[in-house]
Amino acid sequence: MRLSRYFLPVLKETPSEAQIVSHRLMLRAGMIRQAAAGIYSWLPLGYRVLRNIERIVHEEQQRAGHIPMLMPTLQPAELWQESGRYDDYGKEMLRISDRHGRDMLYGPTNEEMITDIFRSGVSSYRELPLTLYHIQWKFRDEVRPRFGVMRGREFLMKDGYTFDTTKEGALHAYNRHLVSYLRTYERLGLKAIPMRADGGPIGGDYTHEFLVLAETGESEVFYDSEVTDLTFGDRVIDYDDVDQCAAVLEEFTTRYARTDETHDEAIFAEVPEDRRRSARGIEVGQIFYFGTKYSDAMGATVTNADGQAVPVHMGSHGIGVSRLVGAIIEASHDDKGIVWPEGVTPFHVGIVNLRQGDAACDTACEGIEAALEAHGLDPLYDDREERAGAKFATMDLIGLPWRLTVGPRGIANGLVELTNRRTGESEEMSVEDAVARVA
Ligand code: ATP
Ligand code: MG
Ligand code: MG
Ligand code: MG
Repeated sequence: MRLSRYFLPVLKETPSEAQIVSHRLMLRAGMIRQAAAGIYSWLPLGYRVLRNIERIVHEEQQRAGHIPMLMPTLQPAELWQESGRYDDYGKEMLRISDRHGRDMLYGPTNEEMITDIFRSGVSSYRELPLTLYHIQWKFRDEVRPRFGVMRGREFLMKDGYTFDTTKEGALHAYNRHLVSYLRTYERLGLKAIPMRADGGPIGGDYTHEFLVLAETGESEVFYDSEVTDLTFGDRVIDYDDVDQCAAVLEEFTTRYARTDETHDEAIFAEVPEDRRRSARGIEVGQIFYFGTKYSDAMGATVTNADGQAVPVHMGSHGIGVSRLVGAIIEASHDDKGIVWPEGVTPFHVGIVNLRQGDAACDTACEGIEAALEAHGLDPLYDDREERAGAKFATMDLIGLPWRLTVGPRGIANGLVELTNRRTGESEEMSVEDAVARVA
């Protein structure tokens, strides 16, 4: 991509309305633009990151055997009247009526709709287990939308729903989600810690939130510092292996890690004092087994092996896809701007031409661009007539992992400069070596 032909409305000034660094950087880097409180347009650079996160979420969900689909954003009120949540949900639900005066709503979540789809399509235990998911925009009329995409009103969520005949089956689905989420967050370059959360009015022990530690997080958390040493890494998982998934859950959830809603001082006191931590965190996902709450209310049953109709056991599992963009920036930035992890970066390499219009420099940059593209990489070539300082500042702000700088003196000797955004280290090398290094 040539920057001269792209749309990257970078801001020079620090926007005063943004209270936290990720919001400031997303505005400054031209990633988003507010349309109304808590509602954002995703400008080209932000959209690339959002799509990358979506892609990783899809890949990891499907690796775990979960089936993608797409439900609409608008839902009829009747489904929510059936479950009883139409009244319970309160003002967070955006209610709309159509031209015929029918009550509709912009979905804040999809338990009711998926349960309706399930009951019309599945009747026997033989068709289970089943996990369906989608990535779709949600609307919650938050009292205090803030921090940019972190607490939006319209936001993108992956929500998956599991259906099993027995509680044991549903708990395996729960464990499988925990494992797939660990993999997903690591691929996004994040450390997200599963923490015991509050089951709300339904209760139960089977819910964990995934938290990214950050001072600007809205949740208060308490944990044993040992949990921050755990990594999933590249271990191979058989998602159908009940014991293997259970062992991962055990490994990642036995040490103390709780949100303030479930925090228990007495149990926390058993953690050695030098390992006790309290901090703040960003909730980037939640897994939840809730039994037969919706299947009872909405009559979602299957016949079991004895021919009896039994309510199906369900769970719902969410990832905050758009919130993740902010969370990743909170976790990975410096005073010059964003530092994208490789997995989600909007472009892999920035090419900076120090002397635009100089035949040797232009030819070299075009050659590098083509060579990188041939390796399947997406370079962003700054081909504008701008000062070097301005080009460097833009590249630092938008945080691409690598910068390749091409200038007349170096290129006369066949050399370019390769700079690592994270370490700041620069090295002169041949064009071929530079391309090989980043590819
Ligand atoms: P929160 O406690 O932050 O309000 P939640 O517990 O209400 O979130 P869930 O119903 O668990 O949210 O939704 C799944 C995920 O969707 C959350 O873990 C979070 O990452 C994301 N999410 C929820 N609300 C918002 C929002 N207003 N803006 C952006 N992402 C959100
Ligand atoms: Mg909420
Ligand atoms: Mg929450
Ligand atoms: Mg939650």
